[in-house]
Amino acid sequence: MKILIKNIDTLETVTKGRFNNYDILIKDKIIKKVAKNICETVDRTIDASSLVALPGFINTHHHFYQTFTRNLPKSQDVSLFDWLKFHYKVWEKLNPEDIYLSGLTAMAEMMLTGVTTTTDHLYLYKNNQFDNWIENEIQAAKEIGMRFYPGRGSMSLSQKDGGLPPDSVVQDEARIMAHCEDIVNKYHDRERLSMLRISLGPCSPFSVTPELLKVSAEYAKKEELLLHTHLAETKDEEKFCIGKFGHRPYDYMKDLGWDNDRVWYAHAVHLNNKEIADMAKNGIGISHCPSSNMRLGSGAAKIPEMLKKRINVSLGVDGSASNDTSDFLAEMRQMLLLGRVAWGAGAIKTMDVIKTATIGGANVLHWNDTIGSIEEGKAADITLWDLNDVSYIGAQSDPIAALIFSGRCHQARYVFVNGGITVEDGHLKNIDEQMLIKRGKTASSRLWKRAGII
Ligand SMILES: [Zn+2]
Repeated sequence: MKILIKNIDTLETVTKGRFNNYDILIKDKIIKKVAKNICETVDRTIDASSLVALPGFINTHHHFYQTFTRNLPKSQDVSLFDWLKFHYKVWEKLNPEDIYLSGLTAMAEMMLTGVTTTTDHLYLYKNNQFDNWIENEIQAAKEIGMRFYPGRGSMSLSQKDGGLPPDSVVQDEARIMAHCEDIVNKYHDRERLSMLRISLGPCSPFSVTPELLKVSAEYAKKEELLLHTHLAETKDEEKFCIGKFGHRPYDYMKDLGWDNDRVWYAHAVHLNNKEIADMAKNGIGISHCPSSNMRLGSGAAKIPEMLKKRINVSLGVDGSASNDTSDFLAEMRQMLLLGRVAWGAGAIKTMDVIKTATIGGANVLHWNDTIGSIEEGKAADITLWDLNDVSYIGAQSDPIAALIFSGRCHQARYVFVNGGITVEDGHLKNIDEQMLIKRGKTASSRLWKRAGII
């Protein structure tokens, strides 16, 4: 299959510069050629003379299962620990259909707003049941056509052992590690154009035992897997780590083997400059989650300092109970604005945001040979945006920055993943959006009922 994207008004490749009136030739899964006036017999031509093109976005932190608990009245105005304690009681009522449908919903929203690769941090398992939850997400990713890098998350430190989650949502370490091995063997596809890879994701210092963090790091080293967790999200977490383990969060994790370039941490808000320098030295990646950090009042990560130290910074929308939307373009705008309110008007520029959302994610996921920029030979993960909307009138002097500064509808006109069209004319091509809305709303209402909150 050959597709020619013809005469793109503005093309931002991220790594090779910005061009006007350029063409992109896609052959099968690959970007075959990026040039002016490509002449080639193709199966399909898309006129992009009024569109702008960017690489597909890469989301590096999410909890899909939270999508059915967006915006619940009792958790709208609380900080992380109280927010978690409330939600554990709802999440323990999730069932496999909820995992599938909430995953599909989260990915639908992200794909419509330009995401072509996403991770998911699925750490909630009901005791020893539902080990197949990750399969429900994988099924949803396949159906919608998303490049997917889920993490087998875990919790092993319950309230009775001094942790935060209740017994009902933690598992024992042996079972967790056996399941990690099983799904890595079954699903982790190391091929360059793979649509599915697996990482390991013990949840956080306050919900996981040190032993589990250590064995996860050892197993990840042996199998060359990526490791992901939450870190330094709140001051409460810092107090918890100092009180229980005698270390600040980052030092605690370092001692357990989480100190190398296969690690990426979500949030990383409460770090001092010495810790940031050490993370840079160790090649550790970050998933910045500005909306969630503002929503829960957690604080502002030192992104300009991290970029200065050349840390691999990527972007994540975080779970939908602490962001309430998976709108990725909105998250990019939030990164720009939070960075400026915290660190000054010149601290973060639009290209910093675009790089973070694309090649930054590819670097964090060790996948920059394939995704994160528009280059010949890379996977054809491309987004096309239509700025012919009242909200962009007067912003067209810099069409790429306009996507961040302006706009009321963050819907991509076209999205390509591995050369396949997944969004066409602003709508998902592989799934029925109306059917998803109906099924998702029904399933979420049923969940609230089971949890006794409506
Ligand atoms: Zn999170």
